[in-house]
Amino acid sequence: MTSEKVSVTLLGIPFDESSSFLRGAAQAPPKIREALYSPSTNLSTESGYDLGAETRLRDLGDLSLPTGTAAFVAIEQGVSELLESGDRMVALGGDHAVTYPIIRAIAKQCDRFTVLHLDAHPDLYDEFDGNRLSHACPFARIMEEGLVHRLVQMGIRTTTPHQKDQVERFGVEVVTAAQWTDSVVTELDGPVYLSLDLDVLDPSFVPGVSHHEPGGVSVRDVLGVIQSINGPLIGADIVEYNPVRDVNDVTAMVAAKCLKEVVGRMLSSTDK
Ligand code: MN
Ligand code: MN
Repeated sequence: MTSEKVSVTLLGIPFDESSSFLRGAAQAPPKIREALYSPSTNLSTESGYDLGAETRLRDLGDLSLPTGTAAFVAIEQGVSELLESGDRMVALGGDHAVTYPIIRAIAKQCDRFTVLHLDAHPDLYDEFDGNRLSHACPFARIMEEGLVHRLVQMGIRTTTPHQKDQVERFGVEVVTAAQWTDSVVTELDGPVYLSLDLDVLDPSFVPGVSHHEPGGVSVRDVLGVIQSINGPLIGADIVEYNPVRDVNDVTAMVAAKCLKEVVGRMLSSTDK
């Protein structure tokens, strides 16, 4: 470990071909940036960083993606190139399928890390509608390849019998929405990657997601988890924002708020 300070780079991933119900998440990255820089608020994090003045925050813009499975190759390659710079990445999705190629890239740089996965859904299907790269499947692929040390899921409230089998098969640690507590997060040691599917939140907070799943947690609950991460936060994605369904950009503002606090948490880290 060194005391070198961490820099953070944003990367948009405009991809929604793996969405099983509604398209639209590919339009999310520019809308989240627009909300981040909205004059209706400011760029200060709750931890005290002014992201408007922060020279350690960069933005690579959006990946230019081919269609089909080639997109997965391009995402993995794009993330790998970003990580070679030594920066930490926050990816702006995109549907949740993007997390599989992202984690492949992260795993090439870091051999032992925990994925903290916030979601209404386990996303552990072996296949969904015949598609093994569906946004309902990324964590099955990640666990099959042994890419992560631990997978800790929080906010889950839609587990099917098949997915319960997958939880047991892969040794996934699950904290349901009903069991939500920050203490699970404060006990995590070692590097953490955060995968934030916005539908972990109750749909009353985030109308702009493809899958409205009632019984979710609050924005404050998610911020509390982000701020409770102890170990180095080595990367993150914010996925499943669907601008087509949003109401007055309220979901974009929630995504931008979570983004600010994720970046603030990364910047506060001095261990590289
Ligand atoms: Mn998901
Ligand atoms: Mn979900």
